[in-house]
Amino acid sequence: EECARIRERLEAGGARVSAARVSGRDVLICADARATLGEAAFDALRGLADVVPIPEPYKLASRRVRDATHVRVGGPRPTVVGATTLALIAGPCSVEGLPMLRGTARAVAAAGASMLRGGAFKPRTSPYAFQGLGVAALEMLSTVRAETGLPVVTEIMDARQLDAMLPHVDVFQVGARNMQNFSLLAALGDIRRPVLLKRGAAATIEELLLAAEHVLARGNGEVVLCERGVRAHETRTRNTLDVAAVPVLQRETHLPVIVDPSHAAGRADLVLPLSLAAVAAGADGLMIEVHPTPATALSDGDQSLTFDAFAALLRTLEPVATAVGRTLPASADTAVDSRLDTALVPRAAVATPARRENAIGRVA
Ligand code: PEP
Ligand code: MN
Repeated sequence: EECARIRERLEAGGARVSAARVSGRDVLICADARATLGEAAFDALRGLADVVPIPEPYKLASRRVRDATHVRVGGPRPTVVGATTLALIAGPCSVEGLPMLRGTARAVAAAGASMLRGGAFKPRTSPYAFQGLGVAALEMLSTVRAETGLPVVTEIMDARQLDAMLPHVDVFQVGARNMQNFSLLAALGDIRRPVLLKRGAAATIEELLLAAEHVLARGNGEVVLCERGVRAHETRTRNTLDVAAVPVLQRETHLPVIVDPSHAAGRADLVLPLSLAAVAAGADGLMIEVHPTPATALSDGDQSLTFDAFAALLRTLEPVATAVGRTLPASADTAVDSRLDTALVPRAAVATPARRENAIGRVA
């Protein structure tokens, strides 16, 4: 009530006010609030906890609003992005069928991933390339989510897909090509579910933060940013990973920042070193493409890791994570469900993962 009253007073004075909730706090954004009301009236406002001048064009995304946002991801096994534990999202570029999705989900869960990715609607450069299985893929993602407990991250290309996707999706991915699709950002701002916003290949850091602001300004504060490589002059890699964007974003915003080394590199052999660099630079997590047989993948096979390579990556990552004060997610309980088709999962990945103890004795 106090917040609504403050807003009315400011608007009555002619100010344009936007309101949002940022992690349980009501935030009002207003240019020249003090001047609009006059010093005395402004200081007499009841219910105002804090007044924060924000010179940046992105207001709610600014680190001046708060230190860190922990984005809560729902699903059968809820998880958090932005905390000490790294968020590890893994899975195929595209959902190609139930057995491959199930096999990949079980393998990445056994290796230590905390979320499952998989494209149902694919933004492809060529209209003749595989466009994704659409709604059928969403149902497969739901099935595998129920079986493994892994929350589902998948891309939404158009606001009209939202209703069909809501029952199946824990995190809505906005792809690089759609970073400035403002009507899509508005639709995602109107729901209360996490959004993974990928940086456009030619977008500046400020444009990325302003794209996030479009979601925040409509009241959805659960946004995770993703650096996935930008277009530069280099041709040996698909994109150029902007590692510097990670610490720059960590200074500028309270939103979690993850890195997608797969699309940055375009080559499976570079995914490990770029992952190490990203975590060392302060990323809150990684999104990595994994496929049972990369050579036959319908999209992005060149950059997809095998199950073994993904498991090896996490083993190599662990000491780097520890060195920068991070932990890897605890491995999922991978007790074999007799209904599952494990034909595509290598034996080592199906077996109960070895439990490792880290330096502070916590089972990692
Ligand atoms: C993807 O994650 O599969 C994808 C299409 O990524 P991007 O939007 O970064 O190209
Ligand atoms: Mn891909």
